[in-house]
Amino acid sequence: MLEKSDALNLVAEEIAVCQACPLHLERKNTVPGTGSADSDLMFIGEGPGYYENEQGLPFVGASGKFLTHLIEKAGFERKEVFITNVVKCRPPNNRDPQVEELKACADYLERQIDIIDPEVIVTLGRFSMAKYFEGVRISKIHGKAGWRDGRLIVPMYHPAAALHNPRLRPVVEADFAKLPALIEYSRQKKAEMAKSMHVDNPAAAEDDDAVQLALF
Ligand code: URA
Repeated sequence: MLEKSDALNLVAEEIAVCQACPLHLERKNTVPGTGSADSDLMFIGEGPGYYENEQGLPFVGASGKFLTHLIEKAGFERKEVFITNVVKCRPPNNRDPQVEELKACADYLERQIDIIDPEVIVTLGRFSMAKYFEGVRISKIHGKAGWRDGRLIVPMYHPAAALHNPRLRPVVEADFAKLPALIEYSRQKKAEMAKSMHVDNPAAAEDDDAVQLALF
């Protein structure tokens, strides 16, 4: 069987030559994502901006610096988590990714999630939140985890939102500070469920909405 990092590299190689949507026409570099293939924690942002397109790396501009600060303040090193986006090529002038572009990229993201199999996924911004939480406002659900397909998903404000609105900064920091406890919570819950059901995969036993966390 392939090592996780080799499997991730294969996905990145496919992304590098992808022409599934018009975003490939103007890209300088694809931005598949970076970090540890064995990470407990995966961050999903929106899409590459100017600097990310230049360097082929996610979150290297101003919001990236703030994201690194938030990750470190929560007790992690940036290199031990995995960071990616819902679209892997820069939308021109940093416009919102369009439905067809999101669809064209969705399978790459799914495969990255399957390979890494993180304990907790953090969505950053509207488009990654919408993948898991429909018809909700980030102001209502930020920092509140929910189970989706057997995995704990935590919607958070995009770091850029806190850069634009400094009053959000302590809010975002407080949400990030919950991450170590959420990883632990996910581990324990899965172990308990697997034990009580005598199965390896507790996803089979879940009703997504019934297990929304009241904990945090
Ligand atoms: N914003 C994002 O959502 N992703 C990046 O990679 C950079 C900025």
